[in-house]
Amino acid sequence: MADAPSSPARPAQEQAYYGDTYLTDTEAYVVASGETADDGGASPWIAVSPNIFHPKGGGQPSDEGTVDGVRVAPERSDDGLVILTGDALSAAPLAVGAAVRCSVDAEKRRLHAALHTAGHILGALGEARGWRHSGHSHFPGQARLDFDPEGHEDELASPELREAVRAELQTGMDQALASRGAVTAAVDETGHRTVTIEGVNAEPCGGTHVRSLADLTNVRILDVKIKRGAIKVRYEAEHA
Ligand SMILES: [Zn+2]
Repeated sequence: MADAPSSPARPAQEQAYYGDTYLTDTEAYVVASGETADDGGASPWIAVSPNIFHPKGGGQPSDEGTVDGVRVAPERSDDGLVILTGDALSAAPLAVGAAVRCSVDAEKRRLHAALHTAGHILGALGEARGWRHSGHSHFPGQARLDFDPEGHEDELASPELREAVRAELQTGMDQALASRGAVTAAVDETGHRTVTIEGVNAEPCGGTHVRSLADLTNVRILDVKIKRGAIKVRYEAEHA
């Protein structure tokens, strides 16, 4: 159970989503509140701790959820705090120190974590081919990784070659998933978080991930294209 924060000046916020992807309902305390000025109006925001809401970032969408039953949307403020905004917050203002019930859409969280984790594996498979990772989106229905095509034009010069590469990536993905490697995360003393997929790779990341590769299913490499100066590999994935 969380302790009530004691220092309102510079609120500490425990990022519970870093430690547990599957914690989607918890009691928390309001540790800060304020108003954002945007689009000509002021909207109230709160920050809670422990915080289970993942704000959009690193190609992963924001969580959707509620605080005391009121719909909120998370975002990261300039000073690194995860803040929650929602129109209905103005109807029932929450004071710093108030205990609240937080809930995240668990199905979406699981899907986002599955797509995001599969993206790590695909990135490692591309880099193993000598491709340089240049971008990504892990949004449902539009998940893809981008790589720099420089020096790799020949291997992707025809539809047949691109299909062969797609099939190779699928084989590599299937082999990685069959290993059922553990997925772990560690935050160092400077706040940098490293996510390690056993047998695959380790990289800095602030997203949410499944517990092990056994949690992934229906991971499909859909196609490989060269478009707008990038190798684009589209994929899909589901949580088992
Ligand atoms: Zn990640």
